[in-house]
Amino acid sequence: VLVSDLPTPALLVDLPRLAANLDRMQARADAAGVALRPHAKTHKTAEVARMQEARGARGLTVATVDEAEAFAAAGFTDVRLATPVAGPQKLSRIGRLLDAGVRLSFTVDTEAGARLASEEFAGRKDAVPVLIEVDTGHGRCGVPPAYVAAFAAAVAALPGLRLVGLLTHGGHSYAGPGADEAPRDALVRAMRSERDGVLDAAARLGAAGLLDPATAELSVGSTPTMAVFEPAERDGFRITEWRPGVYAFGDAQQVALGAVELRDCALVAVATVLSKRRLDDGTEQAVVDAGKKVLTADTGAGVDGYGTVLYSPRTMVANMHARMPRLSEEHGTVETPGGLIYDVGDPVFVVPNHACVAVATRPALFAVEGDEVVGTWAVLAR
Ligand code: PLP
Repeated sequence: VLVSDLPTPALLVDLPRLAANLDRMQARADAAGVALRPHAKTHKTAEVARMQEARGARGLTVATVDEAEAFAAAGFTDVRLATPVAGPQKLSRIGRLLDAGVRLSFTVDTEAGARLASEEFAGRKDAVPVLIEVDTGHGRCGVPPAYVAAFAAAVAALPGLRLVGLLTHGGHSYAGPGADEAPRDALVRAMRSERDGVLDAAARLGAAGLLDPATAELSVGSTPTMAVFEPAERDGFRITEWRPGVYAFGDAQQVALGAVELRDCALVAVATVLSKRRLDDGTEQAVVDAGKKVLTADTGAGVDGYGTVLYSPRTMVANMHARMPRLSEEHGTVETPGGLIYDVGDPVFVVPNHACVAVATRPALFAVEGDEVVGTWAVLAR
């Protein structure tokens, strides 16, 4: 089967570029002396998870109980839910995964949440490992660093839970550079606050006897911050784990942030031109069969439009004259001020802005080598 035989829209994964991205991040984690626990929500496929494991990844990260179940069913038995969990139904599903022998951990960041989890798990033979989520700047989940010690003391006193470490997500790296700030400096700034926020909190817990530097799991990770990671130590504590996800595929958002090169992006949407016309101002417009349901409505710092239009997925050179300024549900508009290179029926190749959400829109990804489709990978837990 050739790419040109696929019904569009479709998401292609370039196998050699994917393999190179996985190799590169694994080598960087190995060199930094940290375990790589890739976030599987980006690819949502057993095939990519197996490629990551084969290269030395130690376990997977997931974002939902659905993903934990799907990857456990696919044979992955070391899974970290990098989020707090609430609600009796989800907690009991976690209990069932633990009963089935899955090494599962999750985060706690409120006393109410920790108490609910404790009530669910207090009767178990083995206490369930939890990490305290720390907010190191992202402003989503997580305990503010000033409260981590008091919260850790409360968690340590709860039956059924075993505090094994701290976790944070450097999602503030997605804000992009400030005025007069170079893109790389912005990534380094976010990485240092992510890393140091966790190390400072760990040192405080170490001093209070609530965490042991010899065994503490200190987990950080976003693709932009891991791209510029620098090791550091506080009172014997060091970062032990990275959880990047997007690095596997790359996307237009990572390119805009300076975390990934366009030529390394492995996920490309292919669409077909359905209609074209010349507008009054001379701009030529093509409408393709890829709208929000594959490219998604995600934008991001420094991103122009709804994806990067390529001249060809082989060269990965951006068509600098083509923009995608508008999407509707099933249609995407490609505009070129200087005249279109596309005719109706032609394929258009686009690097999505946000790989994770794009993947979740499709039932399957197509692994490709050049023009040839070499695999069809089911997308799990959509
Ligand atoms: N950890 C958590 C908690 C996340 O929410 C995410 C992504 O949203 C990641 C890790 C992976 O980061 P990235 O998407 O930048 O690769």
